[in-house]
Amino acid sequence: MNSQYEYCIVGGGIVGFATAMKLIESDPGARVLLLEKEVKPGLHQTSHNSGVIHAGIYYAPGTLKAKLCREGLDATKIFCSNHGIPFNECGKLIVATNELERARINALHERAISNGLNLQIIDGAELSRREPNITGVAALLSPETAIVNFGRVCQKIAEHVSNQRGDIRYGMQVTRIEENEKNVKISCGHENFTASKLIVCGGLQADRLARMAGLAIDFHIIPFRGEYYQLPSEKSAVVKHLIYPAPDPSLPFLGIHLTRMIDGSVTVGPNAVIGFAREGYPKLSFSLQDTLDFLGFPGFWKLMYQYRKHAAHELVVSFSKMAYVRECQKYCPSLTIDDLRPYRAGIRAQVVNSAGEAIHDFLFKQTDRMLHVCNAPSPAATSAIPIGSMIAARCQDTA
Ligand SMILES: Cc1cc2nc3c(=O)[nH]c(=O)nc-3n(C[C@H](O)[C@H](O)[C@H](O)COP(=O)(O)OP(=O)(O)OC[C@H]3O[C@@H](n4cnc5c(N)ncnc54)[C@H](O)[C@@H]3O)c2cc1C
Repeated sequence: MNSQYEYCIVGGGIVGFATAMKLIESDPGARVLLLEKEVKPGLHQTSHNSGVIHAGIYYAPGTLKAKLCREGLDATKIFCSNHGIPFNECGKLIVATNELERARINALHERAISNGLNLQIIDGAELSRREPNITGVAALLSPETAIVNFGRVCQKIAEHVSNQRGDIRYGMQVTRIEENEKNVKISCGHENFTASKLIVCGGLQADRLARMAGLAIDFHIIPFRGEYYQLPSEKSAVVKHLIYPAPDPSLPFLGIHLTRMIDGSVTVGPNAVIGFAREGYPKLSFSLQDTLDFLGFPGFWKLMYQYRKHAAHELVVSFSKMAYVRECQKYCPSLTIDDLRPYRAGIRAQVVNSAGEAIHDFLFKQTDRMLHVCNAPSPAATSAIPIGSMIAARCQDTA
């Protein structure tokens, strides 16, 4: 069996489905196929995250992250409003607990202004008025930051794609990709498809899919587990906003936060420790292939050497609940070790190059007939709809 399409998308997470939606919108009548190896949409990073619709505070002005997150903040809320998906504009507070952190949030404020955001610095008294359980000398308030269930957003986009006659095939693991002058051939075991253009949105498998397609790449995906706890329901009212610590500017994605979830619960986390299985969520998950993959990659060792102190700290926090709770007590002193209840982990697909540098911005690689989304870390769930628009425009520019 061989089926011919204008566009084939590999990967049914939120980025893949948003891309399918935007391709259908911008090229009505084109035959669009999406291949996903799992039985449902969004089972990996898309449904294992903090559920925050980010405003784009941390990202360097001029980067794709800064631009697409800003656009995604509005686009996600509009999509949710139009499709009856609940979201809550609870706002976010980045809390400074000392003078060094005050300087850090002031610098973040400057950056946020350059990114076109409307934020506000509040003093310690205003912080305790808004959040009686949070202690700090000042905080940066982002009123537009919101929460949502991205798994649900992805499911809704999938329904929309299907209603617009997009062809979605679940349980289809892509095992072979061959580009030639006329088209791209994609195989899932014995089943073959042909597309004029291929877009690969493989998340944690992005590097393997790029190599499978013959791209010369010098990076690997390193899986970083993000482990969470959940507060007991009687503590769900402990905060009204999302509460984040002031980040270390060299590693802005680190820092355990208190996150209100759209179901009314509050999670604590995530940390960032090496994962020994790209798609294994229980704590001691192990995959020999995934582990050998990063152990044999010199970039991994360079990264670990460079960040050895942070890595050791994150490992301690992973195995010691006491160390974990101490991180949160810096800004929420009333939390105790008994408040930390088990919760699912997520696994970040972090691109690291052979020089040992973690790539922070979104990264795309394009050939005549393929576009690979190589790096789509946070805030790619927030940014998925504008990422999809950008990919659709790039594919049509080269049609
Ligand atoms: C702990 C954590 C917290 C986060 N918090 C936030 C947040 O609060 N806000 C935010 O905006 N972002 C957040 N993110 C980031 C966000 O979740 C991801 O950036 C986003 O979900 C990426 O979507 P994706 O579609 O690229 O990847 P995924 O959701 O991982 O989807 C990739 C898909 O490709 C499929 N696939 C892979 N290989 C194949 C193959 N060979 N054949 C067929 N299918 C294949 C997979 O099965 C998977 O469904 C967080 C991430 C983590 C891990």
